[in-house]
Amino acid sequence: MTSLLQTLSCADDYDPESLNAERARRLILDLVEPVAGVERVAVRAALGRVLAEDVVSPLNVPAHDNSAMDGYAVRFADLAAEGETALRLAGTTFAGRAFEGRLGPGECVRIMTGGVIPQGADTVVIQEVARAEGDRILVPPRQRSGQNLRRAGEDLREGSPAIRAGKLLRPAELGLIASLGIGEVTVRRRPRVAFFSTGDELASIGTPLKEGEVYDSNRYTIHGMLARLGCEIVDLGVVRDDPAALEAAFRQAAAADAIVTSGGVSVGEADFIRALMAKLGEVAFWKIAMRPGRPMAFGRIGGDGKAAWLFGLPGNPVAVMVTFYEFVRDALLKLSGVDPVEPLARFRVPCVSALKKRPGRSEFQRGILFCENGEWKVRATGSQGSGVLRSMSEANCIIAVEQERGNVAPGELVDVQPFEGLI
Ligand code: AMP
Ligand code: MG
Repeated sequence: MTSLLQTLSCADDYDPESLNAERARRLILDLVEPVAGVERVAVRAALGRVLAEDVVSPLNVPAHDNSAMDGYAVRFADLAAEGETALRLAGTTFAGRAFEGRLGPGECVRIMTGGVIPQGADTVVIQEVARAEGDRILVPPRQRSGQNLRRAGEDLREGSPAIRAGKLLRPAELGLIASLGIGEVTVRRRPRVAFFSTGDELASIGTPLKEGEVYDSNRYTIHGMLARLGCEIVDLGVVRDDPAALEAAFRQAAAADAIVTSGGVSVGEADFIRALMAKLGEVAFWKIAMRPGRPMAFGRIGGDGKAAWLFGLPGNPVAVMVTFYEFVRDALLKLSGVDPVEPLARFRVPCVSALKKRPGRSEFQRGILFCENGEWKVRATGSQGSGVLRSMSEANCIIAVEQERGNVAPGELVDVQPFEGLI
């Protein structure tokens, strides 16, 4: 079997010393495969889960030919080509209560939108053009045969797939599944993701900070990001910069489907991690042409048939979030069984701030999308330091500036990636 590192290095334009951000995202995405294992869950519990088998419609939708408009169900053959036709009103179709019996020659039935087309009728004349005169309805000429009808099975044919496997289930899908009278669906099991922070300088909440220490915030942001993606989370805490402690943590974490770590991949620290990674698995150490988030490790840890994908993220709190959303998010979606994985949406809007930017690396700055006189624009949050987590909290989008681009002047168009979607 070709090794992971061989596979990576065979990719054209692969340069671990300077990897384009989009290239790195694709390399990761191409390698990761969905977890095996499925479970049956009730419709409500399926929210946020990934469908493992097609949902096949057990019925036609709509179930019957029905009216698309309020009006009169008629027999087209009764209508005169020229001049008005007078029809006898034989009854009414109510929602949920169809007209019983068959429409005879010269008859029509009052019908509401969604009402079942009575037997014998084949056309609906909208109420706006028809005239009532006692129990007679006058229909003008030039109606079209079959107009204003929704045919049985028009939205969905019995036996055809209503939702394809690989769909991440949102409120619309829960409703769609329920509309077919289906109470349970088969979803993939959630991927198990183990994570820990590394660093001798990290203090845990509840202990006073000693000189040179910082509170471990990454474990909390990573917890939140993994939870939002619907992963099963295994929190392995803080691990000291100590080979034995790290080895123990990696061995424990390898039982999961994926491992996310923060810290320990920057140049000064990478050397001893590198040796450890060579022992425990196959891991590439990348320098990505991006800011923040230049150093990153990606690979497999563990063997014996069970290995976990490793995402070794940088330690800086903003870099952790940016690299998670740019690389790990899509990989975890694919691991979850989402198919196809669509990249984060990007929109081009005018940027009202001047952005400092060096050509040669992609930059992911924190921005605030706002609407002014009906036009959406973006401005940068204040400090863009990669340790300034507050900038992430103030922001509602990432401003993604292309690798080749230099400074951005106010008014120029930039790509933004909004944090929140509608659904
Ligand atoms: P490293 O990549 O390990 O060199 O860390 C880079 C920077 O991020 C350092 O200033 C660390 O103190 C900080 N850092 C690393 N891990 C964490 C963490 N879990 N929480 C908050 N800050 C961190
Ligand atoms: Mg460190």
